[in-house]
Amino acid sequence: MKTYPFELMALPYAADALAPVISEETVMIHHGKHLQTYVTNLNTMVADTPFAQLPLEEIVKTAEGGMFNNAAQMLNHNLYFEQLRAPRTDNAPTGRLGEAITQQFGSFDAFRQQLSQAATALFGSGWAWLSVDAEGKLHITQNGNADNPLCHDLQPLLCIDVWEHAYYVDYRNRRADHVSAIWQLFDWDVVAQRYATALGL
Ligand code: MN
Repeated sequence: MKTYPFELMALPYAADALAPVISEETVMIHHGKHLQTYVTNLNTMVADTPFAQLPLEEIVKTAEGGMFNNAAQMLNHNLYFEQLRAPRTDNAPTGRLGEAITQQFGSFDAFRQQLSQAATALFGSGWAWLSVDAEGKLHITQNGNADNPLCHDLQPLLCIDVWEHAYYVDYRNRRADHVSAIWQLFDWDVVAQRYATALGL
């Protein structure tokens, strides 16, 4: 588990690997500037406090105000960047996660539409999430600003960042176009591993 001092995660791919869905410029700014700022701010706020002993997830669950915002945004972005990889068509989950999605949402396409709608319709800055509860039920939620499913007793599986910094360089105001395209980038092996870990499989 990560504790203070926190470090900027290394991207598991080159900065231009997500193009043309997400440009190299957006990745450089989003990861190298926005995420770096959250990490730097968090370290400043956590230093010489009891939070310096806690894993990032525990800070997210217990901190308030600016410390919460920076800790949660660090965690959100780690989950976000880890779950992406180079664009691929016919990109869908298989295995137990794929079966659970089909069972609970009717089809993968219905699930995709529902999560996309949550992301597109979220007012202001925030995230759309797929998460799983302790009973194994999947949930789609809209979470404003830095909010993370962990704060609601849910384990985060997959997220779409709809803060404007995630898409404005490439898509300007066309958030729905960005949300539609990002499905090419999801690394379902990463998401399936989160699902398995959350359920103790
Ligand atoms: Mn972001």
